[in-house]
Amino acid sequence: MQNLLELNQPSLAAFFSQIGEKPSSVKMRAKQTLKWLHQSQVSDFSAMTDIAKATRDVLAAHAEIRDLTAIRDSTASDGTRKWLFDVGSSAVDAVFIPEDDRGTLCISSQAGCALDCAFCSTGKQGFNRNLSTAEIIGQLRYADRALKADMGIVGRTLDGVQPVTNVVMMGMGEPLANIDAVVPALELMLDDNAYGLSRRRVTVSTSGMVPQIDELSKRCPVALAVSLHAPTDALRDVLVPINKRYPIKELLAACNRYLNHAPRDFITFEYVMLDGVNDQPEHAEALIKIARQVPSKLNLIPFNPFPQSDFKKSPRDRILAFQRRLSDADIVTTIRKTRGDDIDAACGQLAGQIKDRTRRTIQIAQRRAVSDNTALVPSSTG
Ligand code: SAH
Ligand code: SF4
Repeated sequence: MQNLLELNQPSLAAFFSQIGEKPSSVKMRAKQTLKWLHQSQVSDFSAMTDIAKATRDVLAAHAEIRDLTAIRDSTASDGTRKWLFDVGSSAVDAVFIPEDDRGTLCISSQAGCALDCAFCSTGKQGFNRNLSTAEIIGQLRYADRALKADMGIVGRTLDGVQPVTNVVMMGMGEPLANIDAVVPALELMLDDNAYGLSRRRVTVSTSGMVPQIDELSKRCPVALAVSLHAPTDALRDVLVPINKRYPIKELLAACNRYLNHAPRDFITFEYVMLDGVNDQPEHAEALIKIARQVPSKLNLIPFNPFPQSDFKKSPRDRILAFQRRLSDADIVTTIRKTRGDDIDAACGQLAGQIKDRTRRTIQIAQRRAVSDNTALVPSSTG
């Protein structure tokens, strides 16, 4: 069975040809179906009323609409909402961050991650598997539908109120290590027959996979964030081990090449602030030299601790002093607000605890089942 959520517009058109649709109408069918799936967000072929009943029957015989299943849905005191999705052997999550002028959905690209950055709980968990296109776009479909249901709105119209205005691929996993599944999902985010987001409002965050940065620039250029985290190769080799394969000089060259295709005229460099490790004045000075080599903005991320992490977060005044040094050198530097930390929805808190939590959820469920049974025993025997 083909899961229709797996397909972007050209693949959907090809699928319609395969199931016998006339060549002259496959393109129109693909567009209609995308609208049903990603705008009206139906889960049932019978709802696709502008597609002939006979065609719907053929579709139902060959295809399905398989959504993600959420195993937890939590809302933080600041309104940040997190869904934890079951992806078989493990769980991934998506986080919605409401702000005054936008709503940003942070989504996952892999269950776990193989790149093992020293300060990242997803990295500590190791690699489980790549998500499919359906599982990546499925996070947006699920969140969009849930948020609209709360607002009393059904479906998505491009000119209507949209809870999700921006998508960032900053959840679990390295999106460019799963580029073949990520690109069709990005295409669906951008497609006017699906989510219709502007390229500038869709961001891929990468730890710096140089060949894939070039590939993304050709296949689907969107806004790019690069996880820099250290201004020298010696330190970056330790914090972001992929640096041993693609050192800073090569990474900066790739960023400049990307800008020839990008929808924005700058790269966002992410820099996690680790107490005593990369937050000293000499690091700021070295970072200024780097930032001057690429049209860029710098986003300082307060480190979010997690159990078993070896690092501490930089004190607030050190982060502010670091920002001041960069701003004084005319590098646009922002400090990321930590959102949703009371539900472990902040950057880098997503995975390690999920694994524990998932296990704990299962344990709690098992314990409940046991206590339910024990509760039954006396009543049935008594
Ligand atoms: N793999 C991609 C995208 C996912 S991580 C990447 O590395 O860019 C999204 C961002 O969160 C990255 O900048 C990452 O370095 C950062 N991050 C990871 N662990 C963190 C932590 N514990 N505290 C703060 N930021 C963290
Ligand atoms: Fe993977 Fe990104 Fe975490 Fe590094 S920071 S381990 S690339 S998810």
